[in-house]
Amino acid sequence: MSARNILVINCGSSSIKFALVNEAEEQFPLSGLAERLGSPEAVLHWQQGEHKDSLVIAGADHRLALSHLLPIVQRVADGQLHGIGHRVVHGGEHFSGACRLDDVSLLAIRQVAPLAPLHNPANLLGIEAAMKLFPSLVQVAVFDTAFHQSLPEHAYRYAVPEALYRDHGVRRYGFHGTSHRYVSQKAAEMSELPSDGSSWLVAHLGNGCSTCAIENGHSRDTSMGLTPLEGLVMGTRSGDVDPNLHSHLARALGWSLERVDAMLNKESGLLGLSGLSNDMRALEQAREQGHAGATLAIEVFCYRLAKSLASMSCALQRLDGLIFTGGIGENSALIRSKTLDHLGLLGLKLDAQANARCVRGIAGAIHAHGHPRVLVVPTNEERQIALDTLALLD
Ligand code: AMP
Repeated sequence: MSARNILVINCGSSSIKFALVNEAEEQFPLSGLAERLGSPEAVLHWQQGEHKDSLVIAGADHRLALSHLLPIVQRVADGQLHGIGHRVVHGGEHFSGACRLDDVSLLAIRQVAPLAPLHNPANLLGIEAAMKLFPSLVQVAVFDTAFHQSLPEHAYRYAVPEALYRDHGVRRYGFHGTSHRYVSQKAAEMSELPSDGSSWLVAHLGNGCSTCAIENGHSRDTSMGLTPLEGLVMGTRSGDVDPNLHSHLARALGWSLERVDAMLNKESGLLGLSGLSNDMRALEQAREQGHAGATLAIEVFCYRLAKSLASMSCALQRLDGLIFTGGIGENSALIRSKTLDHLGLLGLKLDAQANARCVRGIAGAIHAHGHPRVLVVPTNEERQIALDTLALLD
């Protein structure tokens, strides 16, 4: 049988990111983005090898954008498209793995939508459009939360009244599961260890950031919670704050819940601390020029990350290695080094040259000789979604 092609789709409320994944090829034969959907500026961008192209699709919604995409996908795939994998943010307690999409699973995804009101409805727009356009293709949903369904109860419960959990699903779910799973499997391969017999700490550091403790292929704890706001300092998200901050700001400043919510999600994190940018590259440059806000943002980011990793180590019996991934984790030798400066008690130490070498997609070990393993592993959520889709095709 020739190598199979899977179209991977990640829908936002006004965008569709996509990649065509061929199971035998490292590079994606096709990838791109439809953006500003539902507006007169709607446009489809795609890249095939070195060739980039775009098409104005003024006013297009998700379905129209996908119908424009289909002939491009079929041409690149030589008419051989075997399935579609959809990224879905929240699977609640219903999904502990990927699932084939049908009326029953669609209903379950709709039922958990109140837990991710910004994300699941957008994911559903893409799924419904794709199911109408490609009724004969196998379509699969892969959830950001599913990998963390193996958390023990003492890690996923909040210390709030039990009825809130029982009746309203208030618990920690965790996100970035597809990435944590992919890089921990890669790390095991790189280290010639079985993934079902090794233990890892993972720092996924992109615009969103989370840590995860993984034992024998199962997530045991993770830093994000009910929503992707809990835990680390992120691009524009605050991560952990005192839960009384909401009521304090309401009392002291008269802020509404919506105002506090927008502040914590969109105006905080690296952007809020630095007063400059949510982009780590910009902050590193500004820090070199002595910018006080950028310097502080980086210090807080690394210290909070180290604290989170140390606390995640409570979930493991032993440690086979620490993995850095995501745009910052894969590229910033500075962040890796400053974070490990706080983790001496875990015995972690970097090799400065190896650390400097592992950037721009280069994977490798960066620990100093005789110290616990530290790896840089580029994530590839699209490939993992395609692999999960293929597994359900089989
Ligand atoms: P992601 O969401 O995984 O695409 O990651 C985005 C983040 O990675 C942004 O904060 C970028 O500034 C950061 N990033 C990308 N390249 C670099 C780099 N060379 N050095 C530092 N940060 C980087």
